[in-house]
Amino acid sequence: MSNHQSVPFLDLVAPHVELEEELTAVFQRALRTAGFIGGPMVEEFEKSFAVFCDTADSIAVSSGTDALRFAIMASGVQPGDVSVTVPHTFIATTEAISQAGALPEFVDVDERTYNMSVESLRQYLEQQCSRDQSGKLISRRSNRPVTSIVPVHLYGQMADMDPILALAEEYGLVVIEDACQAHGAEYFSKKLNRWMKAGSVGRAAAFSFYPGKNLGACGEAGAATTNDSEISAKIRMLRDHGQAKKYYHDVEGYNGRLDAIQAGLLSVKLAHLAQWNARRRELAAEYNQLLANNDAVGCPWEPSWSRSVYHLYVIRTTERDRMIESLKQAGIGTGIHYPVPLHLQKAYSGLNYKPEDFPVATRVAAEIVSLPMFPQLSGDQQAQVVNAVQAFSARAVSETVSVA
Ligand SMILES: *Cc1c(COP(=O)(O)O)cnc(C)c1O
Repeated sequence: MSNHQSVPFLDLVAPHVELEEELTAVFQRALRTAGFIGGPMVEEFEKSFAVFCDTADSIAVSSGTDALRFAIMASGVQPGDVSVTVPHTFIATTEAISQAGALPEFVDVDERTYNMSVESLRQYLEQQCSRDQSGKLISRRSNRPVTSIVPVHLYGQMADMDPILALAEEYGLVVIEDACQAHGAEYFSKKLNRWMKAGSVGRAAAFSFYPGKNLGACGEAGAATTNDSEISAKIRMLRDHGQAKKYYHDVEGYNGRLDAIQAGLLSVKLAHLAQWNARRRELAAEYNQLLANNDAVGCPWEPSWSRSVYHLYVIRTTERDRMIESLKQAGIGTGIHYPVPLHLQKAYSGLNYKPEDFPVATRVAAEIVSLPMFPQLSGDQQAQVVNAVQAFSARAVSETVSVA
């Protein structure tokens, strides 16, 4: 296969070459002011990211994982509490829960959105929890108090937040959004009759700026968002050794601050995020249309209440591994997000879950493929990807026919 035909899964060079002058100026500013940790570049980025997310505040930290850990801790989750989340996500979701001292328990995902199933959440709360004498909600599985829900906005699409918030309110739980893949995604709240940005719906939220995310740093970075000034102050303390005033430590915190250089680079890139997200949506619509006639492939579903920012474009096929191999032969990069659901990871064998505990998550993990999706993907490249998928499906059908 000749090289010029290959389509990478992700191109992280192109967006930085386009902005090279502006990005380089950030390094100069940092060098000339010796502003390396915190300072004006971090404050500027925090202000503009809060505006982007429609929140009162954003707090820049060292990674998405730390953002989620601090958001959970600052939202009042206590060590030993249960935090309810999904098994179909990146392990950082549950790492952050555990690092906050809480215990992750899972509910299944929805077959069509791949996000938290409201029905599974309801069943969990109704059937797997009970109230103790003091009225606390207790998980039967672990005999621990359930105090929070961490929905994940996977692949750039928000979870169905209205019913999740309604259940949270009914059961007295706090909701912290894992928005690490969903910068700029929107959800239409019927309750409030308006579109809401990812990160502005729960008590607090976490974003990752890992280089491959829709908004990526040139290194590690993340941010928490919230409308609650007390939570925001707590997160600021947690990221900086538990101090609000230098060397006066109210609590034991962490070294979770963001580099000024990363903040400066993020500010430059943030100015392009809306346009990049729009291009991702355009590419997704094009993929949907070009693959519509292929019955062997399931395209992503975007409900009317959702505007996804397509961090990933994920299709489904029962021939997943063979399709990936065939695309690889055609020079096309793909990914699997994620091949092993968290309840079946070795790291969580101690939680004693079985594959059939979350049948949707287990099935989905065996059938998903992420196709190339990034703003600089050209129409030609996209056509190559689609042609390779269609050629594979046609071959797969003819092979099935000839075997039969
Ligand atoms: C990327 C990601 C994280 C963690 O972010 P880091 O910046 O890599 O620490 C958490 N949750 C999800 C769903 C992610 O995709």
